[in-house]
Amino acid sequence: MFDFDLFVIGAGSGGVRASRMAAATGAKVAVAEEKYLGGTCVNVGCVPKKLFYYGAHFHEDFADAKGFGWTVDHSDFDWPILRDNKNTEIARLNGIYKNMLDGAGVEIINGRATIVDKHTVTVDGKQYSAERILIAAGGRPYIPPFKGSDLVITSDEVFYMDKLPSRALVVGGGYIAVEFAGILKGFGVDTELSYRGNQLLKRFDQALGSKLADELVKKGIKLSLETNIQSIEKQGDQLLVTFVTGDQQSYDEVLYATGRKAYTADLGLENTDVKRRENGTIIVDDYFQSDEPSVFALGDIIGTPELTPVALAQGMAFVDIYYKNNKRKVDYDNIATAVFCQPNIGTVGLSEADARKAYSEIKVFQSEFGHLKHSLSKNTERTFMKILVDAATDKVVGVHMLGADAGEIIQGIAIAIKAGATKADFDSTIGIHPTAAEEFVTMREPI
Ligand code: NDP
Repeated sequence: MFDFDLFVIGAGSGGVRASRMAAATGAKVAVAEEKYLGGTCVNVGCVPKKLFYYGAHFHEDFADAKGFGWTVDHSDFDWPILRDNKNTEIARLNGIYKNMLDGAGVEIINGRATIVDKHTVTVDGKQYSAERILIAAGGRPYIPPFKGSDLVITSDEVFYMDKLPSRALVVGGGYIAVEFAGILKGFGVDTELSYRGNQLLKRFDQALGSKLADELVKKGIKLSLETNIQSIEKQGDQLLVTFVTGDQQSYDEVLYATGRKAYTADLGLENTDVKRRENGTIIVDDYFQSDEPSVFALGDIIGTPELTPVALAQGMAFVDIYYKNNKRKVDYDNIATAVFCQPNIGTVGLSEADARKAYSEIKVFQSEFGHLKHSLSKNTERTFMKILVDAATDKVVGVHMLGADAGEIIQGIAIAIKAGATKADFDSTIGIHPTAAEEFVTMREPI
């Protein structure tokens, strides 16, 4: 009856996973992609960002090396080399994604897909029918409206800049803003971070944002809190920024990291009964089904946490439900996450503020120290750790860290939290010495 059993719109993390896994069950699957295979994560997100983070950190590593007897007389950073090496690696990953889809028997259709009715999609004027349509078109960076907003760049462009700015302004206080402030500074850019609120990473445990702010300032990033941009004007090759306070400053580049919006433009949702929230995200039930029974959606476009592993988990669940006869929900509790700011943040479970709302009494354990490595490097960076415990059950309900490799460390802790670990379980675990992570099993006294 239909050309395909499943037509997926968007070959990002969620779309590729759902396409491949559905095809592996014998379903006839197509995936339409207008830009690049792998979506935001592979092309303009997680992967190139982490490569840039590594690149930026050498700056500090060279300085740290001196205390260990190394002489690093001269170091130069060549932006085009890093950018182009990164581009080569991303092209390799795009190729792997293509091979994976081809290997699974998924038909890749290049172009922007528009839904014309509940079982029909067009791409470049060609029509395809499908029993089910899955929208996994992700999100796009959001720039608020202001005079001169067309002069700024976003995380989509920062990965491809022709040349490195000498002076840059980063706007926002979330993941991308704090990550890129550190990356640009590490590359040697005179960097300023401007945020409208007074607490970076507002949705995280409050201590993380304030400790991070201290570290950013120590690393030489100019931090401007409780301010915003009123307008930007081009003056020669400079951007003259006027802040709401009336202050003016010139920069070579202004990077906006003010959130992302669901990418629903031209999807043709108006031709279906699909409903959206005010912020544009598509409303689906626990099984990814929209109000139009043959149209489904998952990933960043449905308003669940905008994280690649969440989209992957949703893609797997979607296939289990509709192609493997295993109706199940994705468990969104205790999703661990890392921010690749410098130093890194890793976190799982509730913030202290949320834990205080959820439980009548909580115990807070925390520790702050200089990493062993820095006893010789004389780097003043501090490591911070925090454990939140429900006093009634002894269950650990939140674990937070700011420090080197926090993401790597918290991933392991997240398994313990998912398994329902108590503080007594943490205490009875023998540490690995000497590591920073062992501090998580040696914090004895609540503060
Ligand atoms: P975030 O939602 O993390 O942060 C957006 C920031 O922009 C907030 O500080 C917000 O301020 C500010 N903001 C929003 N609107 C305005 C405005 N009109 N004027 C000034 N400031 C504004 O978004 P990001 O863009 O940093 O990242 C998008 C998402 O991508 C993240 O939420 C995350 O899910 C994902 N991501 C994950 C990464 C990881 O896993 N390491 C890395 C990068 C992104 P306020 O707090 O006041 O609302």
